[in-house]
Amino acid sequence: MFEKLPHPDTLKEKLIQIYASGKIPHAILFEGKEGSGNLAIALSFARLILCDQATPTDACGVCASCKKTEILGHPDLFVSYPYPKKDNKPTLSSVYFDKFRQLLKENVFPSVRDWQEKLGSSGVKINIYTDEAKDLAKRVSLKSYSGKKKIMLLWLPEYLGEAGNSILKLIEEPPENTLFFLVSENSRKVLTTILSRTQKIKIPNPTHSQTTNYLCKEYGINQTNAETIALLSRGNMNKAIKNLNNVEEPYFEPFTSWLRDCYSYKLKDINTRIEELNKNGREFIVNFLTYGMELIRESFYFSNNTTLVELPEKEMNFVVKFANLMEGKEYTTLYSILSDSIRGIEGNGNSKLILTDTSIQIKNLLRQK
Ligand SMILES: [Zn+2]
Repeated sequence: MFEKLPHPDTLKEKLIQIYASGKIPHAILFEGKEGSGNLAIALSFARLILCDQATPTDACGVCASCKKTEILGHPDLFVSYPYPKKDNKPTLSSVYFDKFRQLLKENVFPSVRDWQEKLGSSGVKINIYTDEAKDLAKRVSLKSYSGKKKIMLLWLPEYLGEAGNSILKLIEEPPENTLFFLVSENSRKVLTTILSRTQKIKIPNPTHSQTTNYLCKEYGINQTNAETIALLSRGNMNKAIKNLNNVEEPYFEPFTSWLRDCYSYKLKDINTRIEELNKNGREFIVNFLTYGMELIRESFYFSNNTTLVELPEKEMNFVVKFANLMEGKEYTTLYSILSDSIRGIEGNGNSKLILTDTSIQIKNLLRQK
């Protein structure tokens, strides 16, 4: 439901207005980057349209239709998505329906990679095949079950390939009472003939405060942790959900103290910190460094345009102070020192050695000021 999503009210209101006007475009492209939640928004919109007792602002969430939509089981909601061949033959997406439902249950902001992994491996080749397009045409030609609209939701139309032309035909001559929701991460990869027949609705990635509020409200985590996750995920809700289990303690203090220690070159303190980080394991160190990189990036943005950055007070103070210290080129250097360090640790390098080397590089960079 809209109510449960992190997106701005303006977006939700726009959709509710379209719904209330009774003039829903028959093909809508919900375009948004990975983790923008465009699929969740499209599903919430479908739920609103199919709801038996919608309120002026949302689906009711409790009627029989809402219950069915929630598990993707509403007979007037057809969902399609890219999938692999089976035994080297094209089949239908419905073969993988249980897995798809599981995917959404685990993370309502799934990435393509999540989907591929769920299907077996991140390298699995997926597509929406012509057989699927033909099947969809058959399904939407049936009479609406509830007497209301039928909704054909297609996740990732960029994977349509040759089947694009069959879908195009459907959109050109839509069966009665049928709506097409195309949910795309990259509309440039969608057939232009399809694009020109859709109304585009841009789904922005949630902002820092929208992500924070969402995580506190929907996942009951504390403000500090929610803010750390928001910073780590930069509006990518897919990452935010994955980071829920990774962030047990905030990185702000340790990271900024580490920078200070590097600057003053307090070797003993640096070594103690490295020992502590090392105890927490590789994944923790990668998150620690990623957090730091994002903080540095915010500071860089701030130094270019002070209005670009929206952060909690503590982080904001750091960002402002740091921006006074640094110049453009130094930001780039620091950024690459940290990203090299992450790459090394992710590549199973010796974390202690890498962190020591990184500390020295940071010292050299900051000391030359
Ligand atoms: Zn309902």
